[in-house]
Amino acid sequence: MSAPRSVLPPSPPTEGVSEVGSGPSFPESSLTVNQALAQAAALGVDRLDAQWLLAHVLGQSRTWLLTHDDHTLLAEQANTWNALVQRRAAGEPFAYLIGEREFHGLTLQVSPAVLVPRPDTETLVDWALELLTGELAAHPEPEVIDLGTGSGAIALAVKHSHPAARVTALDASPAALAQAQANALRLQLDVAFLPSDWWQAVAGRRYALALSNPPYIAEGDVHLPALAHEPAMALTSGPDGLDAIRHLATAAPAHLLPGAWLLLEHGWDQAGAVRSLLQAAGFEAVATRRDLGAQERCTGGRWPGQR
Ligand code: GLN
Repeated sequence: MSAPRSVLPPSPPTEGVSEVGSGPSFPESSLTVNQALAQAAALGVDRLDAQWLLAHVLGQSRTWLLTHDDHTLLAEQANTWNALVQRRAAGEPFAYLIGEREFHGLTLQVSPAVLVPRPDTETLVDWALELLTGELAAHPEPEVIDLGTGSGAIALAVKHSHPAARVTALDASPAALAQAQANALRLQLDVAFLPSDWWQAVAGRRYALALSNPPYIAEGDVHLPALAHEPAMALTSGPDGLDAIRHLATAAPAHLLPGAWLLLEHGWDQAGAVRSLLQAAGFEAVATRRDLGAQERCTGGRWPGQR
């Protein structure tokens, strides 16, 4: 994480003094840094998370925090802190609390309308970039599509690292699409966004590279309660978690140029099933890559273009 941005105005020049009648005043709370961190611990919030969160609220670094135990929060900061620490204690992802997350070198704004981008997905982006500069380099301005873009993470990271790509990003959720579009605008990345239920909005168009981190968790999976703050439509997909992947793989050939690649993120135990699906759909050179945690995370194949 980069230096936290404050959600509040900076501290007044003279700490503890409210200037009456000359611009805004900054009343102090009775809460010190030490007390705030003790409060977080009592709520069961991880110490490091609590430090990051408080540093964010104060607009300071974590290092500053560690050397300012007795610093008193302003009343407004204390209110913000109280709300955020409660939300963290209730299991809300850190990224939603501070409203942003780093992904592949970009700072993306995130809200509960979108899945929090995971480092696992950087595996897919790295593979995509290797293809764009390698096997697909014959396409000077390759057409790339990201299906179910969410925050825009994959589409924006690809466009950022490979500016010649013509990137289209789709999502069925208007709220997600608005978030992705806002990220593109802020990062000044030229990506086309379309509301679409998977391939539906791009009938008749063909791409050199199709990418997706679709929902892939099985309905009823034991991990779902821990993900309750994230949008269900970005997480679950049928009884075995493979409904979206099956649809993406079987409908892909109608949208791919000869020699195009399809890369799909999937669950740690789904690689074999996804390879079989791609092979059955006619893909060649089907392979799987592991994420940083050494889990099989991403499977892809080349469309030979015979139909
Ligand atoms: N990787 C996410 C998780 O298991 C799931 C994301 C998804 O379904 N695409 O927490």
